[in-house]
Amino acid sequence: GCGICVHKCPFNAITIVNLPEELEEGCVHRYGVNAFVLYRLPVVKDGMVVGILGPNGTGKTTAVKILAGQLLPNLCGDNESWDNVIRAFRGNELQTYFERLKNGEIRPVVKPQYVDLIPKAVKGKVRDLLRRADEVGAFDDVVRELELENVLDRDIKHLSGGELQRVAIAAAILRKAHFYFFDEPSSYLDIRQRLKVARIIRKLADSGKSVLTVEHDLAVLDYLSDVIHVVYGKPGAYGIFSQPKGTRNGINEFLRGYLRDENVRFRPYEIRFTKSSERQSQASDVLVQYPRLVKDYGGFKLEVEPGELYMGEVVSIVGPNGIGKTTFVKMLAGVEEPTGGEVDWELKVSYKPQYIKADYEGTVYELLSRIDAAKLLNSFYKTELLNPLGIPDLYDKQVNELSGGELQRVAITAALIRDADLYLLDEPSAYLDVEQRLAVSRAIRHLMEKEGKTALVVEHDVLMIDYISDRLMVFEGEPGRHGRALPPMGMREGMNRFLASVGITFRRDPETGRPRANKEGSVKDREQKEMGEYYYVS
Ligand code: ADP
Ligand code: ADP
Ligand code: MG
Repeated sequence: GCGICVHKCPFNAITIVNLPEELEEGCVHRYGVNAFVLYRLPVVKDGMVVGILGPNGTGKTTAVKILAGQLLPNLCGDNESWDNVIRAFRGNELQTYFERLKNGEIRPVVKPQYVDLIPKAVKGKVRDLLRRADEVGAFDDVVRELELENVLDRDIKHLSGGELQRVAIAAAILRKAHFYFFDEPSSYLDIRQRLKVARIIRKLADSGKSVLTVEHDLAVLDYLSDVIHVVYGKPGAYGIFSQPKGTRNGINEFLRGYLRDENVRFRPYEIRFTKSSERQSQASDVLVQYPRLVKDYGGFKLEVEPGELYMGEVVSIVGPNGIGKTTFVKMLAGVEEPTGGEVDWELKVSYKPQYIKADYEGTVYELLSRIDAAKLLNSFYKTELLNPLGIPDLYDKQVNELSGGELQRVAITAALIRDADLYLLDEPSAYLDVEQRLAVSRAIRHLMEKEGKTALVVEHDVLMIDYISDRLMVFEGEPGRHGRALPPMGMREGMNRFLASVGITFRRDPETGRPRANKEGSVKDREQKEMGEYYYVS
């Protein structure tokens, strides 16, 4: 019994039946009759990073377009002037902002979400692009901080996703503006790069700029933001910006699924993180022992130390980009032949590649039912996997018309309903929003526990790693040159080993148990580094 009730639980879509009446005043923009409606806007403040946390399709981009002056909000009527907008926000922090925007005093800069599209719009060498962008005279510093020296003379069309992301962020930072918007700055980056980018964006705010960011990696959002807004509503129908909340409390309320000030429950369950040592590991039966493996590509060489995997466990694979994680997974999947050693097991393996292609002719339902039609009707799979990932809503869509996030959810589902002993999932959180990441994490855990199957998951999102893993496989070496895969180890040992190489410490939030990155050089950071406890000290 709550004022505003959730139905269709526990679906991925945050669905609220009745809109509170007072919201009608906060109606900012309506795209048309029966079209998407946006309620309220985020705050924008000089010297602050404002984080936005919420599902896709709830109006985040719409809000940014309004704040950037690209879209005059119709105030859900027939408004045609910025003066009315200023009046509508009288007494609100946004009043002054819109006044300055109207007077042409605000210049916005946007780092777009889909960096993969940049090569279509911009041609030429990285160096020239960044030189043109450089209005603040910080070319050398920014290039160094974002580690772009080696790609300066490369053509933009030859960059990897992670390189494109850092070039796009560099280009935004080099502009001289008042308002900076970073749409998902962590996509394609490894953990070290994510926190590095977070620090660079923070510096913008420290120099007095106002920064807005949408980010789905909660550890990064937490590290980056001064305040956050949770966006809730019904994707595609309407979205509501919550009041600004302190970052820690806002993320905790989000994990709990309940916004206190708003009195809105938007998820029927809480997300809680347990210290891994508390997790009852029934892992005793060995699924497989794999031998020493080598893959030599000429330019890059991976050496895998022998190890074993247990039944019923989830092992996360962590390490920087270009260290051989995908190569290892491909060898286990039988997609790549090792140069040394042999994968000669009888195991059934189900594999979700890192880069997924939509080259299937047919609907989502046809694709999935061909793999295992019975699982689509099975109530356990429905409640644990299909409904939380919003798959039934996609059944009638053509696979080759799915968006990146939809395709990812279908690919994960296709991999998990296949009957196998070992599930290999390479970067399942790519393109997913926070709610979907949490749903995928829960699904992987519950399925492996229930079925006694084993999963190997390549992942960069620390909260996901923490939530799903029984053990860790750490990859070390020199990215792009050589990599070494250590055998799976316990969480504490693994995280210490991994985070020591990255130079970042984490503590746990006392309320939700979620990991939070310590600020570099803080008391906790220094203490934990001294003790060699990069992860588990609370
Ligand atoms: P988010 O950034 O949170 O993913 P968007 O602001 O991009 O959300 O979009 C919110 C909703 O508004 C989506 O359902 C989208 O289809 C709809 N929408 C966006 N732009 C337009 C437009 N120009 N006309 C009609 N609907 C639109
Ligand atoms: P990760 O998944 O850890 O980011 P990958 O396994 O994808 O790393 O790649 C490791 C290294 O091997 C990279 O430098 C990559 O360019 C190289 N590599 C990957 N596949 C091939 C291939 N087929 N031929 C040559 N080099 C490759
Ligand atoms: Mg990879």
